[in-house]
Amino acid sequence: MGANGIESDIRDRHLNAHERATANLEFAGWIDGETYAGTDQFAPRDPVTDDPIVDVAMCTSTDVDTAVDAAWDAFDDEWSTAGPADRAAAIREWAGVLADHLEELTLLESLDTGKPIGDARGEVEGMIRTLEYYASLARTQRGAHVPTGEDVHLYTRHEPFGVVGGIVPWNFPAWVAAWKLGPALAAGNTAVLKPAKATPLTTIRIAQLSKAIFPDGVINVVPGSGAGVGGAIADHDGIRKVSFTGSSAVGRQVMERAAETVTPVTLELGSKSPFIVFPDADLDRAANAVADGIFYSTGEICDAFSRAIVHEDVYDEFLDRFLEIARSHVIGDPLDPETTLGPLTTASQYETVSEYIDTGQREGATLAFGGGRPDDPDLEDGWYVEPTVFTDVTPEMRIAREEIFGPVQTVLSFSEYDEAIEMANDTEYGLAAGIGTERTSLAHNAAADLEAGVVYVNEYGPILPDAPYGGVKQSGVGRDLGEEALDHYRQTKTVYTNIDEPSL
Ligand code: NAD
Repeated sequence: MGANGIESDIRDRHLNAHERATANLEFAGWIDGETYAGTDQFAPRDPVTDDPIVDVAMCTSTDVDTAVDAAWDAFDDEWSTAGPADRAAAIREWAGVLADHLEELTLLESLDTGKPIGDARGEVEGMIRTLEYYASLARTQRGAHVPTGEDVHLYTRHEPFGVVGGIVPWNFPAWVAAWKLGPALAAGNTAVLKPAKATPLTTIRIAQLSKAIFPDGVINVVPGSGAGVGGAIADHDGIRKVSFTGSSAVGRQVMERAAETVTPVTLELGSKSPFIVFPDADLDRAANAVADGIFYSTGEICDAFSRAIVHEDVYDEFLDRFLEIARSHVIGDPLDPETTLGPLTTASQYETVSEYIDTGQREGATLAFGGGRPDDPDLEDGWYVEPTVFTDVTPEMRIAREEIFGPVQTVLSFSEYDEAIEMANDTEYGLAAGIGTERTSLAHNAAADLEAGVVYVNEYGPILPDAPYGGVKQSGVGRDLGEEALDHYRQTKTVYTNIDEPSL
């Protein structure tokens, strides 16, 4: 029976799926290669039915201390002496075990986040590909010989930090966990990872599935609150590097706390990413790119193309095509393979998105599509919002400036190139930007002029493990993914060796 008193197939299907996905498993912390029960518990809720899925251990800052000790023991005793080939083999073996559990992890991720099952599978596959990539990269690390003269042998070594901390958000929990763990382990560190309280299940499960592949204590997971567990990771004097993905507001706090121990941080934060549709764009491709970039994962995407900046000559035609895609979305049960748009992940995110939809209307934007809940009694207990499109948006409106983190598109118009670039860059953020054009020179000029860490031309995504990913301005510090991420998990030592004349 739902909160609204309606008995529904969807609730039965989900309660059965909770049972199936969690049977015989314990969702506690994972410390020193063992389940770590903790004293309190919390239960992440299914965004479709608002039912608790399973009890999860609520770790504390004391548990972070225990995890950090275990991670140092593992580093000192075994992992720091494991060679690159051993590290590569372990990460690759782990990726293989996770691939064997693809369907199990997909179901957990879909139930926890509300993502359509196909999207959840894509995310878990992305996690596996990321680990495979870092397994390959583990063996490519090199120091350098620096020629300075005959009496000195001078070289550099890359060394791991020791224990690194990771803090991840609720929107791509499995994938982002791999963004942190892949390069951290490949570079020779051990790790303490905190999943978001709303979506901890896959992170805990992938740690359990690492048992006996890595020495105990190499991977530790401490579920719990942001301020308690996340805060304890940010300023722990046993953690030598912190990698955070989440909101810019919390990122700032993490940076401040890490400053107390002068701990380096990688920050992957929020955005208000623009997509510029130039007058020569292939409008079908542009409309698809923008729609993928705002409706995929119900718009809970860090680099969401939440501002479509469209040339006035093609504005009406672009809008027609874009609205057609918005109308075609199938809102429904994420476990149904036909569903293309699931609920928002948390009740509080539902409140936030709903408030922004009200704000947009109060600010004078035109609600061209959506804005409400789907008209389906089966979905009444879920945190669903229709694909929503605002037109007549001006750059100073809050809906055009602030990260909404939901399926809400703002459409603006421009007439001159410089105006479009200025509008796109007029934001505190700078994670991603998109360009729709068929002219190569226009694409490259705009890619250079846009203030963003990532630029997509005529598409949205895909984010591949091979390429650096991250933002400029208040969207972050440092990069995840690619070879560049390895540099954030290792430090350089320079060795000067005096070479005396041989005196035999
Ligand atoms: P959030 O900032 O609320 O939380 C992120 C993580 O930080 C969670 O694990 C949370 O428990 C923890 N946390 C909360 N308060 C903390 C504190 N005081 N100290 C330390 N840790 C704390 O973000 P969210 O709502 O989980 O995720 C959505 C945000 O993440 C959006 O802004 C989105 O753009 C961003 N994001 C960015 C990227 C990227 O690659 N740039 C990727 C995904 C999400």
